[in-house]
Amino acid sequence: MKRPFVFLDRDGTIIVDIPYLNDPDKIRFTDDAFAGLQTLRRLGYGLIMVTNQSGIGRGYLDEQRLTLIHDRLKRLLAEQDIFLDAIYHCPHAPDAHCHCRKPATGMLEAACRDFAVDTARSFMIGDSPVDVNLGKNFGIKTIQIRSEGFTPAGADYEADTLLEAARLIASNSPL
Ligand SMILES: [Mg+2]
Ligand SMILES: [Zn+2]
Repeated sequence: MKRPFVFLDRDGTIIVDIPYLNDPDKIRFTDDAFAGLQTLRRLGYGLIMVTNQSGIGRGYLDEQRLTLIHDRLKRLLAEQDIFLDAIYHCPHAPDAHCHCRKPATGMLEAACRDFAVDTARSFMIGDSPVDVNLGKNFGIKTIQIRSEGFTPAGADYEADTLLEAARLIASNSPL
């Protein structure tokens, strides 16, 4: 049975954006991130994080360090009864021209191989135009979070927080 998923950007969406974050202790969640993710879970959505981590390709952190960061992220979410179905990351620098760096669709394609995703009812949430363009490239609905340095990108919806995004999804897609 296919089910709907919400694909979520990490930096500026779930956690505060610290460029090339390489210290698990520096993780800080965005306002109302927990409530937003809990709401989406209650609505029945799968939750998958998709994040560009070119800091790896640029040599600012390695896969091992990213694993530590994501382990702590998952632990902090679990304390709030929030569980992500999966995390996908692109480790490549832009000049690698890979197929997974957002807005390329490789990470969403991988997610659709690993999970029974109902794309017609799924959403992409992120703060950057690359997130909106990823959602558009993949043909799913998009919500752009107005984080610091917000550049509007013609998303289906815009929201100030993940909670507001979750409420938009609740009112726009009865499950
Ligand atoms: Mg972001
Ligand atoms: Zn990549």
